[in-house]
Amino acid sequence: MKQKAKQKLVTIDPVCGKRINRNKAHIAISYKGTDYLLCCPKCQSEFEKKPEKYVTD
Ligand SMILES: [Zn+2]
Repeated sequence: MKQKAKQKLVTIDPVCGKRINRNKAHIAISYKGTDYLLCCPKCQSEFEKKPEKYVTD
């Protein structure tokens, strides 16, 4: 498998912990300068309710 970009294609949904492909994510939410990918509307609303719960620096 060839990789064109250095940016990771697979990332972790911070809410449910599932590995998701950037191209298939439900939505990307920008929080404190970082994009977080969420897999579904349920995870999206969880993240929006309490982003600080899911984001660790
Ligand atoms: Zn999820």
